[in-house]
Amino acid sequence: MTKQMYKRTIKVTIVMVLGLSLILTGCATKENKSDGALSEGQISIVTTIGQIAEPLSVIGGDKVNVQSLMGPGVDPHLYNATQGDIKKLDDSDIVFYSGLHLEGNMIEIFEEIGKRKPVLAIGEVVPKDQLLRDDADAVDPHIWFDIDLWKQALNSAVDELKNFSPDNAEYFEANKVKYFEELDALSKESKEKLAQIEKEKRVIVTAHDAFGYFGRMHDMKVVGLQGLSTEDEIGISDIDETIQTLLEHSIPAVFVESSINPNSIKAVIEGAASQNLNIKLGGELYSDAMGSEGTPEGTYIGMYRHNVDTIFKALTGSGE
Ligand code: ZN
Repeated sequence: MTKQMYKRTIKVTIVMVLGLSLILTGCATKENKSDGALSEGQISIVTTIGQIAEPLSVIGGDKVNVQSLMGPGVDPHLYNATQGDIKKLDDSDIVFYSGLHLEGNMIEIFEEIGKRKPVLAIGEVVPKDQLLRDDADAVDPHIWFDIDLWKQALNSAVDELKNFSPDNAEYFEANKVKYFEELDALSKESKEKLAQIEKEKRVIVTAHDAFGYFGRMHDMKVVGLQGLSTEDEIGISDIDETIQTLLEHSIPAVFVESSINPNSIKAVIEGAASQNLNIKLGGELYSDAMGSEGTPEGTYIGMYRHNVDTIFKALTGSGE
């Protein structure tokens, strides 16, 4: 029968850095071995999520050195800065984060660092009437899934770079125009592909509610077991409600996310099976974290395309 209880796993982040002195023997101030040394004259940018870092590394070219604090599989809602992160933030010239309460545990750090250097929440430039809200009126922070909104956010970061380095303003602008053309092509390609999914199957079921903007952009219903933040609780009723939605719409597949424990989605599949409903695992989507560096999914465009292709295949039954 159905699972008795779905037990939420609470990740306890152990902050083990308090009181420890930095062990940085022999390191020069701005050197960072793992992320590549900063070249002469480069602007040092630190970001939270890869969805900010990677596009800015394309637009900034060799004038910038971009480091992202949150790599593949990392959940920004629960993320706590390490002592190493604080050092990176301290050593940087500019800090960009997404905001709208995505990086909920880092706000105080950003306020503190912001007293000394430009620190910008790029998602917070988006006009309020374009933002989605949940039933409790909380703003949905996952704006990178609406390509036009993400262009607005990235544009504000590029403006900040131009202010910081007016000599490179034309270079940044030219690179931005080129990159935004690629984003426009991605938008067109994604809309055309997802438009082919038949009407009653246009439902994306995932572990947490990260795909609201994606759904609005592509006219798809979105069901997240957890709310807008992974801090929200999941109850047995959420799982039952989701199974009812799957039944009503004859949805063939549900999706796990690369940065979220897959157990809740597995509970949906098992619960559906106990009601003789065969739901497939449609694959893994990149929601709040991108893929590994050096792979297509490690880029904003590549991870977006991966999601579109994965959703398309699972909901149309193609590629089986
Ligand atoms: Zn999220």
